[in-house]
Amino acid sequence: MAETIIKIDLNQSPYENEQIHNRWHPDIPMASMVKPGDDFIIECHDWTGGQIHNNDSADDVRDVDLTQVHFLSGPVGIEGAEPGDLLVVDILDIGTFEESQWGFNGFFSKQNGGGFLTEHFPEAQKSIWDFNGMFTKSRHIPGVEFAGLVHPGLIGCLPSKEMLAEWNKREKELYDTEPDRIPQLAALPFADTAHMGKLTGTAKQQAAAEGARTVPPREHGGNCDIKDLSRGSTIYFPVYVKDGGLSVGDLHFSQGDGEITFCGAIEMAGWIHLRVNLIKGGMEKYAIKNPIFKPSPMAPKYDDYLIFEGISVDEQGKQHYLDVQVAYRQAVLNAIEYLKKFGYTGAQAYSLLGCAPVQGHISGVVDIPNACATLWLPTDIFDFDVKPNADGPSVKVEQGADLPLSKDK
Ligand code: ZN
Repeated sequence: MAETIIKIDLNQSPYENEQIHNRWHPDIPMASMVKPGDDFIIECHDWTGGQIHNNDSADDVRDVDLTQVHFLSGPVGIEGAEPGDLLVVDILDIGTFEESQWGFNGFFSKQNGGGFLTEHFPEAQKSIWDFNGMFTKSRHIPGVEFAGLVHPGLIGCLPSKEMLAEWNKREKELYDTEPDRIPQLAALPFADTAHMGKLTGTAKQQAAAEGARTVPPREHGGNCDIKDLSRGSTIYFPVYVKDGGLSVGDLHFSQGDGEITFCGAIEMAGWIHLRVNLIKGGMEKYAIKNPIFKPSPMAPKYDDYLIFEGISVDEQGKQHYLDVQVAYRQAVLNAIEYLKKFGYTGAQAYSLLGCAPVQGHISGVVDIPNACATLWLPTDIFDFDVKPNADGPSVKVEQGADLPLSKDK
């Protein structure tokens, strides 16, 4: 069995572990060193570092401290890695901890983070998912069970000083266009809750003040939330600093395309087994700006779908110009209204679309003025026939507990 080079304790605060960090900065010291060709195991907290609990109240989702996220394990240094190289990462396996066979999904309150449909679901809610081997189901969403497509939501290498400065500059410029907006337009550096791994003293304070938040995906990969980046995938990362500095976290048991619920997929703590190699000078050789990857030879097989269309006309009937985000939102809303006819609440349907192996596709981006996006709902995850027929939706799911709801304070 490969060596576990980063260990965590689920009962310990991630702030007490110097192999964990929650900002991107080139000065964060390597948590561990490996060689090209090595394979090793890294343990990871869930993205909130244990702020969300396996219970029937959404108060923890309402009160989550989003300045603390994401807790990442790393950075792992790769001997010989230099700026301009490509770091080849094979995801050999991902697993759960025996004592933590569950995950969570939720949507934040509009006042604290929001989400894709925050105007429709402004209050914090959550669903808990129990793992049974490779399958999962939720006591908060009846009538469904599916296989997990397990993946890291967040993985990437440390940025260089110049790249970090560029990130901070452009995100501040966007933020400043509407500084009072709720939810905010971008998450800016915030020193108070920064955890900079092994850094201490003045060096830590300095790095904490400018360390980039982990929320958005960027040129290095980062928080891409790509469900198909699952175990068995091979990723090619640009290297920007000496030794590379690979960090990973935000493990997901399953997620629908778009991670529409934001808190998030089915979020879990767990471990990831990786192998690393280098392609010297690979960024230039292959014109790589953002990471590229090869998907796994194995994936859950759901090949029957109900596909919902959406166009870039919003809920108020306003015409937008080729806006793919508006179009995908309409496809999602159409799917939610459809599922409500089978007895689901809107919140249950929304949560399900954030968790299940739902596909999102961009169909057309040229047919002015409407973009067209589609949401692909796998039909085999339901324990009843979810397709339309002449008699109408005769099956109603047996309603147990709805999603725990938490009013804004
Ligand atoms: Zn996540």
